[in-house]
Amino acid sequence: MSQPDLPCNADWVFTQFMPEVMVDLTEDGEEPWCSSCLAFTDYRRKWQSLQRADLDGGTYTENTEDPHCAVCGSRMFRLSDCRKLLWFVRLLVFLLMCLASLVCFYLFPPTQVSFLCWMLCLLVAWGGVRIPINARRALSTYRSCQANRRALNARNQIEKDLK
Ligand SMILES: [Zn+2]
Repeated sequence: MSQPDLPCNADWVFTQFMPEVMVDLTEDGEEPWCSSCLAFTDYRRKWQSLQRADLDGGTYTENTEDPHCAVCGSRMFRLSDCRKLLWFVRLLVFLLMCLASLVCFYLFPPTQVSFLCWMLCLLVAWGGVRIPINARRALSTYRSCQANRRALNARNQIEKDLK
């Protein structure tokens, strides 16, 4: 008879006898998403030092902690952070376009030049929305994964109903 796997047994005992005290030990209750593995995989934290400028004209070092996938090694992102970032960028772009519209069509008389400037602002806004590539990729891969899972569940349910 083989030696029982202790961590597995401890997990089993814990979930069987104390299901109501299961706690999520992650900081904010959400695991980071790996866009390459398309899953909430295990991750390692990597420290990164960034040079930042302070208000006195000097610089200081800021340490950031980024989760990296334990399977493929790529950078992982928390979906709530990605959503917040995208909302912030969209709000910023919306305000920029409101300001551009006011300047181009209200402050100055609407001419071909002001319309051209407005179109230029629209182009900048379109580019600005596309800048957070990693956040957009994480959310889109998560959504497509969820959609695939729902489709698979629906197919399994239909197959089960037909039997
Ligand atoms: Zn991965």
